[in-house]
Amino acid sequence: MSNNKEIWNTVLGLLENDYEISKVTYNTFVSKIELAKIIDDKFFIETPDRATLEVVKKNFKGEINDAIKRTIGSSKELIFILKGEEIKDENFSEKSNENLLENGNDDRYTFDNFIVGDHNNFAYSTAIAVSEVPGELYNPLFLHGGAGLGKTHLIRAIAHHILNVNPDAKVLYVTSETFVNELINSIQHRKNEDFREKYRKIDVLLLDDIQFISGKESTQNEIFHTFNTLYDNKKQIVLTADRPPKELENLHERLRSRFEKGTVIEVNIPDYETRVAILRNKIETENINLSNDIINYIATNINQNVRELEGAVNTILAYKNLVSTDEEINLDTASMLIKNIVSPNNEAEISLDLIVEIVASHYAVSSSDLRSGKRQKEIANPRHIAMYLCRILTEKSLKDIGKFFGKKDHTTVISANKKISKNLKTDEGLKRDIDILTKKITRK
Ligand code: ADP
Ligand code: MG
Repeated sequence: MSNNKEIWNTVLGLLENDYEISKVTYNTFVSKIELAKIIDDKFFIETPDRATLEVVKKNFKGEINDAIKRTIGSSKELIFILKGEEIKDENFSEKSNENLLENGNDDRYTFDNFIVGDHNNFAYSTAIAVSEVPGELYNPLFLHGGAGLGKTHLIRAIAHHILNVNPDAKVLYVTSETFVNELINSIQHRKNEDFREKYRKIDVLLLDDIQFISGKESTQNEIFHTFNTLYDNKKQIVLTADRPPKELENLHERLRSRFEKGTVIEVNIPDYETRVAILRNKIETENINLSNDIINYIATNINQNVRELEGAVNTILAYKNLVSTDEEINLDTASMLIKNIVSPNNEAEISLDLIVEIVASHYAVSSSDLRSGKRQKEIANPRHIAMYLCRILTEKSLKDIGKFFGKKDHTTVISANKKISKNLKTDEGLKRDIDILTKKITRK
């Protein structure tokens, strides 16, 4: 391949045809990105606006990487920039140093904009306690849980709160990766003393993603000594990891026992209601209008990761900004846009809410009417259909379904089922409706 333009055209061609990127997504986002420059091992990829940048970086990095590899025979580091942004080689590393002492406070992560549910209540209240009286109650605090569940948010909210109350506090937030890199640098440049000095003189150390230190001997030593110095001086230490201390591999026992000495708390996966609350909160902040069936769809299909929940809203938002302006996004478009976030092996859990939303909108009645005792035919018929679909598309018991529809017992559900099953044998229109609804609900 002779020049950048040729390379890029080939890459785009592959992305358009060889990957599972929908037409609309390709046209809206992927086709708009350009190769700005190649420096050493880095591809600087230019995007026309922040929305496209976020969407492409979040959803298609893997695909782009793969297409590049197929085109030129080797992988590159991808650096996404906005059109017009200056290309500075060393400054565009994704591993930005997020050191609070050096970079100031970050308003994105506060306790105020953190949604609390059963899954994170304990972690949340402990984090608040730690930021009220650092070093006194829970030391160290060790938060663990899967990716995208809010650990970084919480640990940075601690920093935010402490600095708000006491702007002079020496609070240091650092990812373990950065810690490792700084340590290596300090060894290379014979500045071990400076490094030690920096970490041992602070009031609050927030060490994110500690799982990265597994198997790293000198890092573990350094952390051990830092830990002891800070701990002995009653300084607060907060750690996060994707697993509890006892499951961290290749970790010195003496370090593991230090971590376990304090308070170890798991951040769990949010339940359906909390996922909806998180989505609503996000939607409000972004000032975007999304129908209940879309919110339902997202909350039902993305159920393991808050970052992905937000990613779904960002993607729809980006699409809305770029294409359809004021038009209301419908469920079809929304589900197409977020296809890449909804993981295919993440078997969708179909909720009763989703079924009622979809049936209600199909028959142009309200969800609350469907769940009410109203007896008019225009409402009772769709209600029976909804009950029937709840029965065949979910694992819920007759009793649960009855309760969901506000019934004291489940006999109504049984008779609705009987009625629909019987009518299906003769009523072609009903059959078609049920087919369409089933497709909409299961997205198959
Ligand atoms: P982790 O560090 O556990 O991988 P993050 O803290 O980075 O996860 O969270 C991922 C994204 O989800 C962030 O944008 C964060 O603000 C958001 N988030 C996670 N949990 C919540 C919550 N309970 N309320 C509001 N936003 C949340
Ligand atoms: Mg994190």
